Parts: sequence; structure tokens; C-alpha cells
Amino acid sequence: MAGQYDVIIIGGGHNGLVSGAYFARAGARAVVLEARHKTGGAADTSAPFPNHPEIKVSTYSYVMSLMPPTIIRELQLKRHGYDVTPFGPYYQAFPDGRSIKVYADDAAKSYESIARWSKKDAETMPLWEEWLKGVADVLGPLLLRVPPKLGSMALGDLLATADTAWRMRKLGVRGVASVTKLFSMSVTDLLNEWFESDAVKGMLAVNGVIGTWAGPDEPGTAYVMLHHSIGDVGDGHLGSWGFQQGGMGAVADAIRRSAESFGCEIRTNARVAKILTRSGRFVGVALENGEELYAPIGVTTIHPKIAFLQLIDRVELPPDFVRDIENWRTRSGVVKINVAMSELPDFIADPGKELQDHHTGSVELCFSTDYAERAFQDAHMEKKAATRPFVDGVIPTTLDKKLCPEGIHIFSMYTQWVPHEWSKEPHREELEAYADRCIDEYTALAPNFKSAVIDRQIIGPYDMEQELGLIGGNIFHGELAVDQLFHMRPAPGYADYRTPIRGLYHGSSATHAGGGVNGIPGWQAFRAAVKDRALKKK
Ligand SMILES: Cc1cc2nc3c(=O)[nH]c(=O)nc-3n(C[C@H](O)[C@H](O)[C@H](O)COP(=O)(O)OP(=O)(O)OC[C@H]3O[C@@H](n4cnc5c(N)ncnc54)[C@H](O)[C@@H]3O)c2cc1C
Repeated sequence: MAGQYDVIIIGGGHNGLVSGAYFARAGARAVVLEARHKTGGAADTSAPFPNHPEIKVSTYSYVMSLMPPTIIRELQLKRHGYDVTPFGPYYQAFPDGRSIKVYADDAAKSYESIARWSKKDAETMPLWEEWLKGVADVLGPLLLRVPPKLGSMALGDLLATADTAWRMRKLGVRGVASVTKLFSMSVTDLLNEWFESDAVKGMLAVNGVIGTWAGPDEPGTAYVMLHHSIGDVGDGHLGSWGFQQGGMGAVADAIRRSAESFGCEIRTNARVAKILTRSGRFVGVALENGEELYAPIGVTTIHPKIAFLQLIDRVELPPDFVRDIENWRTRSGVVKINVAMSELPDFIADPGKELQDHHTGSVELCFSTDYAERAFQDAHMEKKAATRPFVDGVIPTTLDKKLCPEGIHIFSMYTQWVPHEWSKEPHREELEAYADRCIDEYTALAPNFKSAVIDRQIIGPYDMEQELGLIGGNIFHGELAVDQLFHMRPAPGYADYRTPIRGLYHGSSATHAGGGVNGIPGWQAFRAAVKDRALKKK
């Protein structure tokens, strides 16, 4: 029957596509509804430069890490184009001609580089990595688990809580202490316990502030560092971070092709204007154009403030839940700058425009934890864009040959911070000046940088909110703060991918294991529906 489905998925970001693929694979008549003209959400490849249509960029997200092997295998993503190449070292150059490189797979090279700054830190680095890996090995697999309803006395919930606690036993007394530190400390304080060199600490602090409305001195940032350091979700070996061939849009395209191969219908330019309910149960959606579609199961993969505060009548929801979603913090002050370049940066510290390993990994702009904290304080306390921004830079074209013609490079700058309030206004001129400062900072390290710029695209918090529905500009649909994780993500009692509306499941990045391009929330929403026997057998 036209307009009648087994399941309607709201949002065609990668999580919506994963969910649609799984439902269709299970034999359901599934439709994914995407507001934009294209699917993928923040996993997107585009050609943003009108004068250079041949140059493509990963528009928003830029590196892959945590997609579980099970999802890759079950959705046959490699057959559909999923192709990730592990990337090179963390690299930080300094204006005085020194640099530091840390390799994921070459301890001897890392030692040699770090020892130039501090012999003690060079010796500490393997111990630090071992410590982090020990914690990540236990916490990583938690990303694939449905958080228990802590505090609930229902038998099933008590058993789930006990099961989670049992799995934590491997941590031991010291391990529990480590987890406590990671959840409660600032990444600066944690790094101060281990290292002495500012250069080393600055580089390691980067992972603690990605996507966070908090500087590295803020308690809780140590956990963010761990979240971005997990290399394996316990589902088979995962490499470290890597570049998808053809940019991040190719990841979403692979998932879309998989979903379509299983028979999932995908509709673009199909913005959902209302979630339809009857007696507390999901029955369908109304599109912006007035069309209504019906299904007994719905999955929302859009920002929770849109889904629950705009698309559903609040009286349909428990007041506590409404309050929790109203209070959901969703700031980050991120600006993504995609720079097209005619040649690779020629660093004073490591001269040469020819491709070298320091071009192939993270090319950071974070000289110390103080440097990053200052950038945050500019935005937070002084309500202005950082005078000296922090940048997580990568040059995907060193390893991805599908983005640009030979010889052209993309320098992808993931930068922080501008005031999060900029999600309400474009602030174009200030963003242009901010981008100039990012380029100037790199030019101080690699003098050919500025003159090699062909064009640039600047995406601020306003653009992210308007284009993708990332309310407040938060890149993860909600901050990765300790009180917004695990059983609290997105609200206590609703971290199991269910919602207060029966038949409506939640698979956005605002649920446990989000954010990031890992597909886990979309997959978990499907699994919750299967567990509830919501999906009728054909
Ligand atoms: C600048 C930036 C950099 C990032 N860098 C990385 C990175 O390098 N690595 C990484 O792993 N993660 C990164 N992330 C995070 C990651 O991209 C996101 O967590 C992830 O892509 C979110 O996927 P999603 O499917 O949950 O939601 P989204 O990708 O946000 O998709 C939601 C979709 O829903 C659509 N939509 C919204 N409202 C409606 C409606 N009413 N009706 C229908 N459709 C609607 C939107 O148009 C969008 O396509 C980054 C994010 C950003 C913004």
C-alpha cells in the first residue's frame, strides 16, 4: 500500500542508512527519509569550489575509526566501496624549526622524536600507551553494549547492571582507579602526571578536546581523550584512524548502496515535519509537503532536540524526559575549514614539498595544553573567536587518490573555538578573519602554505545547524561530557535506544557510542526493535 511501511527511519545520515540497511536486510519494508538533497549527513564528500569543480573535500567529518567489523561485514560495506587506509603519525611542527612525531606503529621512531624534547617522556610514552590500551581494551567493548538502566529495580535491569559490572572485573583495583581518573580529571592534569614536555602534552591533549565545549583544563576532558583513543570496540581488530578513499561521503554511499541492495527505499528532499503518534505509540510521520507515511516502527536518527521538542507534541512525552532533552547540552564552537592547495606544506622543521610521512597523519596546531586552553577561553570568556585557534589538521590527499587531480591537495582543518552562540548567526566576516589566522599559523611553520592556497571553504556552527540540524553546532548531536554518556545518553531511562513513544527507537549520535561515524547507534536501534519483537515475521 502506498505510504505504508514496516519501518520509517527519520534522517539519512550514516546512522539512518545503517538502520535502514539492517531493517531491509531483515526483510522489512523500510524507508529512510532525508531532509537534504543528498544522504550521508556529516559523512559527506562535496565539491565546494565553483571555480574548481574537480576538487573534492570531506565536507564535515574527515577520518574513520570506530566502525565495528560486524557492521562492515554484515552490510558487505567493502563490496559497496568502504575502503579505509590507516594514516600516518601525529605531527607538530614548531616555528623554531623543531618538530615532534608520534607513530602508532613504530615505537623506535617515536622514541627518537620525543627524546629530542625529553628523554624521560620518550621513555614514558610506551608505558602511557600501554596504560591507555589497558583501559581502552575494557571500556572499548562497552561501546557495543546497551547501557543498563542504572537505579532500576526491575529484574531485567538489575541483571543487565550486574552483567556490565561483571565485565568490568577485568579492570581490577588499579584499573578502576584509572577509569575514575579518566572520568573525572582534566586531560591537562592527567598528562601532567605522566609527561614533562609541553610539546608532548599539547599533542596528546588534542584528542581530549575534539568536539568539546571545554578546554583541556576542564574536568572530564580526560575521558574525551580516551573516547578518541579507543582503537577496538572488542569486535575484532580495528586499525587506528584512517582515510576513506573518496572522502567521508564514500562511507555513507557504501552504506546507502548496501541498504538499497537489501531493498530499502531512500528518499531525499523528504523533511519530516511531524512524528505522528496515537495513544503514546508511533504510527507514522508527516512530511513538510503534507504527505503522510505510516509504519508501526519508527527510528529517529536526527538531533534529539529536533525529534523530541519540535516534531512531537511535548504533552505526548513524560515531563522528566522533556526536561532532560531541554537541558541536553549541545555546544562545541567548531569551525571546519577545507583548504585546497597547489602543493604540500614545506615545513621549516622537516623541509620538502615532496610527500613525506609527516604529511600523511595529523598535522596539528596545538603547541601546548596552555595554547588550547587559551583558544577555548577566548571563545568562552571573551566571546570572540580564538586569536590563535587550535587545529586538528589532516591532508587526506596524501593517501586518498580519489578526491583531487594529481598534485592538488586538501588541507582539512578541524578547528576550535569560536563562541558556540555563533550557531545563531553566520558571523561570516569574523570567520574569514579566523580562517586567515589558521592559515597564518601554519604559514609560520611552513612558509609556502599561504601562497599554495587555491581556495577554501569555511563552515561555522551556524552552517552546521542550518544545513544538518546540528543544534548549537555540536558535531556529535550532544556534548561528550561525563553526565551525557552511557546510561545518561541522551536521558536516564532512555539510553537503551528506546524512547517514551512505543515503537519509536532512537539511533542518532546522541545515544551511547555516538558520536562519530561508527554506525553503532543506527544498528542498536534496529536491534532494540528486534528484541521487542516489533518487527513482524513475514
Ligand atoms: C565538522 C565535523 C567534523 C567531524 N569529524 C569527525 C571525524 O573526523 N570522525 C568521526 O568519526 N566523526 C566526526 N564527526 C562526527 C560525525 O560526523 C557524526 O557524529 C556523525 O556523522 C553523525 O551521524 P548521524 O547519522 O547520527 O547524524 P547526521 O550525520 O547529523 O545525520 C542526520 C541527518 O538527518 C537529516 N535531518 C535533520 N532533520 C531532519 C528532518 N526533520 N527530516 C529528515 N531528515 C532530517 C540531516 O539532514 C542529516 O542528513 C564530525 C562531525 C562534524 C560536524
